[in-house]
Amino acid sequence: MPATVTATATALRGDASAHDYTQHLEEWAASLAKVRQLVAEKLAPKVVDVDLKAEYPEAFLRELGAAGGFRGAVAPEYGGNGLGLKHVVQVMEEAAKLCLSTGFLVWCQTACARYIQMSDNEALKKSMLPRIARGDVLVGTGLSNTVKSCDTIEDFRLSAKKVAGGYVINGVLPWVSNLGPTHYFTTGCPVEGEAKGDDGLVFILVDCQQPGFKLVDCAHFVALDGTRTLACHFRDAFVSDAMVLSHPGQSREYVKRIKPGMILAQMGMGLGLIEACVDMMKQANRTHAHVNQFLDDQAEDIDAVLQEARAATYALADTLSANPQADVVLDILKLRLAGGEMSVKAANAAMLHMGAKGYLQKSPAQRRLREAYFIAIVTPATKHLRREIARIEAGTPCPA
Ligand SMILES: Cc1cc2nc3c(=O)[nH]c(=O)nc-3n(C[C@H](O)[C@H](O)[C@H](O)COP(=O)(O)OP(=O)(O)OC[C@H]3O[C@@H](n4cnc5c(N)ncnc54)[C@H](O)[C@@H]3O)c2cc1C
Repeated sequence: MPATVTATATALRGDASAHDYTQHLEEWAASLAKVRQLVAEKLAPKVVDVDLKAEYPEAFLRELGAAGGFRGAVAPEYGGNGLGLKHVVQVMEEAAKLCLSTGFLVWCQTACARYIQMSDNEALKKSMLPRIARGDVLVGTGLSNTVKSCDTIEDFRLSAKKVAGGYVINGVLPWVSNLGPTHYFTTGCPVEGEAKGDDGLVFILVDCQQPGFKLVDCAHFVALDGTRTLACHFRDAFVSDAMVLSHPGQSREYVKRIKPGMILAQMGMGLGLIEACVDMMKQANRTHAHVNQFLDDQAEDIDAVLQEARAATYALADTLSANPQADVVLDILKLRLAGGEMSVKAANAAMLHMGAKGYLQKSPAQRRLREAYFIAIVTPATKHLRREIARIEAGTPCPA
C-alpha cells in the first residue's frame, strides 16, 4: 500500500465505516486530479514570468481556490473538505513541482486559514473561512517575526496597546507575502502591560485596506519575487476585537496549536521542489549518465530520501489533523530541517547534472537552485531549526 493510503487508513481506522473510507479516498483522488490539471494548464505557461518578471500569479490562485485547492485547511462546517493538513501539503507539492513561488503562496493562503480555523473567534470563522477556502479572498501570514521573537532570536517589530473595543498597533513588518490592496493577513505581537513572552501576545487578522495601515513595496529578491512580498506599516492602526484570533492570556496555548502545523506544511514546498530536481537529473541522465555517474548525489539516492520524507510528512500531517497538539514537535522540526537541507542538495545536484543547459536564464535548473535556498531561509530557517532542536534535546526551556 502506498504511504499516502497507509497514513490515511491509519487516521481513519476506528472512526469510519469501509464505505466512508472509500468515499474519502475517491474525494481525495478527484480533488488532487483537478489540482494537477489546473497546474498543468494554467500555471505551467506562467512559471518563467513569475520568476523573471515577478508576475504575481493571482488568477491562478483564485482558480486553485475555486477548484478546492485550499479547502484542506478549513473544517467542513466553514467550507472545507475534511481532507486535512495532508491535502494542504499535497496541493502545495503540485504547485511547487513547477514553481516554488506559487507553492509558497499556497502555504501563505492555507497557513492563514488554519490560524483562523484554530482561533476561538466563531464570527470571524463564519465570515472569512468560506471566502478564503474558495480563493475569493487572498491572505498572507506575517508570523516570522512573532515566531522568531518568541524563540528569542530577534525583537518584536510590532507592539499593541489595549483600548476600548480592540487594540492599537504600531510598527513595521519588513516582508509579508501574498498581499495586495484587497488582501488580509495574520500577525501577532506583544501587548503593553501584559506578561512578557508568548502568553502576552495578541494575534490578529489585518485588513490591508484599514486606516492606519499601509503596504510598501521595498524589497526585491533573487527568487520568489512574484510572491507579492511587501512591507507592512502600522501607524496607530486600530484593530477591533472582532478581528482578534487570540488575546493575551490565551496566546501561549494558541501558539502551541498553530505552530507545529505551520512548520510541517512547509514540507509541501520541499517535496515538490525535490521531485522536480530528481526528474531533471533523470532527464539529464538519458544522454549524460556516462559522466553524471561521477557526481556525488545521484537521482536514485535523492529519490529514496524524498520517498521517506514524503511518507513521514503525510503521517505527521494526519497525526496533527487528528490532534493539533500531538507530541510530535521534535519530529516535525527535524523533518523540516531535512526538508530545507535536502532541497538545497537536490537543486545543486540537478544543476550539476544538467550542466550548461541548466545555466540558461530560462532553465528550471538554475531557478530551482535559487528557489531551494528560500526553503532553507524562510522562517524557521536552517539555523533557527538547529537552535530549537538543540535546545529541546538539551531539555532547556525557551528563555522567552
Ligand atoms: C521572499 C521572501 C518572502 C517572505 N515572506 C514572508 C511572509 O510571508 N511572512 C513573514 O512573516 N516573513 C516572510 N519572510 C521573512 C522570512 O521568513 C525570514 O524571517 C527572513 O528571511 C529573515 O530570516 P533570517 O533567518 O534570515 O533572519 P536573521 O538572520 O535572524 O536576520 C536577518 C537580518 O535581516 C534583517 N532584515 C529583515 N528584514 C529586512 C529588510 N527588509 N531590510 C533589511 N534588513 C532586513 C534582520 O533585521 C536581520 O538583521 C520572507 C522572506 C523572503 C526572503
